Amino acid sequence: MNLRRLLLLSQVPFWALLVAAFVLLSSTLDARVQATERADQTRARLVSVAQVMQHVVDLETGLRGYVITGEPRFLDPYNAAQVALPQALAALELGSSDQDGSLGRIRALIGRWQNEVAAPELLARQSSAAAAAALVKTGRGKAILDEIRTQVERYSAGQAASLAELEAVASAQLRRLRLTLLGVGGVALLASLLATLFSAHKLSSSFGRFTAAVRRVSEGEDGVQVEDRGSVEMHVLARAFNHMSGALTLAQQEAAMRADELTARNDWMAQLGDFGDWMQAARSLDEGARILECALPELLPGTRGTLLQHNASRNLLLPLATWGGETGVATPPDGCWALRRGEIVSPGADRLAPACLGGPGGTYTCVPLFSHGETLGIMRLRPAVEGQELPEALRALLPGIVRQVSLALAGLRLQDRLLQQSIRDPLTGLFNRRRLEDELAAQTAHAAASGQPLSLIALDVDHFKRLNDTFGHDAGDAALVRLSAALRDMAPPGSTPARPGGEEFSLLLPGYDLVAATALAERLRAEIAGWALTHAGIALGQITVSLGVAGYAPPLSTPDALVRAADEALYSAKRQGRNRVVEAAPLHPEAWLTLTPG
Ligand code: GH3
Ligand code: MG
Ligand code: MG
Repeated sequence: MNLRRLLLLSQVPFWALLVAAFVLLSSTLDARVQATERADQTRARLVSVAQVMQHVVDLETGLRGYVITGEPRFLDPYNAAQVALPQALAALELGSSDQDGSLGRIRALIGRWQNEVAAPELLARQSSAAAAAALVKTGRGKAILDEIRTQVERYSAGQAASLAELEAVASAQLRRLRLTLLGVGGVALLASLLATLFSAHKLSSSFGRFTAAVRRVSEGEDGVQVEDRGSVEMHVLARAFNHMSGALTLAQQEAAMRADELTARNDWMAQLGDFGDWMQAARSLDEGARILECALPELLPGTRGTLLQHNASRNLLLPLATWGGETGVATPPDGCWALRRGEIVSPGADRLAPACLGGPGGTYTCVPLFSHGETLGIMRLRPAVEGQELPEALRALLPGIVRQVSLALAGLRLQDRLLQQSIRDPLTGLFNRRRLEDELAAQTAHAAASGQPLSLIALDVDHFKRLNDTFGHDAGDAALVRLSAALRDMAPPGSTPARPGGEEFSLLLPGYDLVAATALAERLRAEIAGWALTHAGIALGQITVSLGVAGYAPPLSTPDALVRAADEALYSAKRQGRNRVVEAAPLHPEAWLTLTPG
């Protein structure tokens, strides 16, 4: 039911009361008017019957005066009544039904009186007063008149009773009207009161539901719905409210989702910033690679992958860092479509993208790494779980990460290059004197602290000046490069092969005692002595080296003392005829031992 109908219905008792009252009043007024008219007619009949009676009295009085006096003038009332009486009787009969026949009897009695009394007496009086008196004395006139009076009184009494009855009926109707109005009005008022209370209750409970729902929404509750019941307007309002509440809930959920996304993005940006700081702190590509292996799983959740960088000659992509259990495999750069196109490529996901040569297969993404116009390498990503897709959010994150990684890598490569330039000999690629001195200082300190053995081999090419002079400086350089390669190949991990200058080389051996270092030096010497070098197709002849070996032990416990001891042992080897290894005695340089006879 709609609200308008409900409110209208609550007014229905009032209208019913008004209509009933109007109908009752109308009918009662009609009855009252009819009763009044009938009462007026009755009163008029009473007046008329009184007039008839008066005319009868006038007839009788005029006749008696004439009979007594014989004077015709006494007949004036008689004559006047004679004229008026028929009209009065006719008027009386006109408004009366004469139910009991009173009027008929009165008319008949008057007729009888006129015929049987008045006419004979008038006739007798014209002849003699005595005859007339004799007729009067018979009493017939008096009897008829008495009878007329009796009938008139009866008729008047009947009319008066009818009048009283009419007034009683009218009064009863008025009483009934009052009672009916009171009863119907009371019931209507009660019904109206109940209808109003019912309507107010329905409205109040509906608004109460809405108020409670609005309060819950304002307190931040999600999915608040009001019951869809009540009037049509309440249905419409409930549907609108529920729609609004649903939309609000959706908007709130979306806002919360956005806030979560923003928080996640902020966290991620903070992580990216941290990652940048860590990469800034890295001193070498190796350190950078370790940081990348820690950071990339965090920055690229749901992925595994490899970061490959160009080798020095740029003909191979070498794995620098891997994460998520991926094993890095060297791959030719030409086979990678991302490098060729200079943009992100997703073979497997992008139907136009062919798989890279040497790629991992399945769905993966290759991201080229550029910095300062230089191609550094690629980052190759795969879903952490085979068969799944890469996280959708990754597309938005990748450029930021890749930019950061590329910048950091470029910085580290530059740093590495500068470092290498500062610590490496440009001709042979071995460490230079500065680096050797740094390592000596570090390793002697470590040996002192840890008690671990430490040895130093000093190597000098025998008669190198002669080689230069005979075959040229280039041939000498080639021989030096070949020697340094042999030194690097034989240098154990953690050792420092160096070229402090000229045709002199050193090998610092942490963890090697004098005996082990001397054995290594001897292997080196024998290896070199076995070569048959050529340069530009010309045989250079045998090249030999002399080596001095010193082991860390007091008093040879400082870098200078160790170097000096190794040099002294080397000079001793030279003095003893070259192409040999001389071991520095730990305590007395004089007691140095030549291991290899020339
Ligand atoms: P010894 O057996 O006594 O060591 O004789 P040596 O000729 O090797 O020693 P010397 O000190 O007389 O000569 C060293 C030569 O090494 C002199 C120098 O021209 C040459 N030399 C030094 N540095 C280089 C270099 O970078 N390239 C070339 N080709 N020669 C170099
Ligand atoms: Mg020399
Ligand atoms: Mg020499």
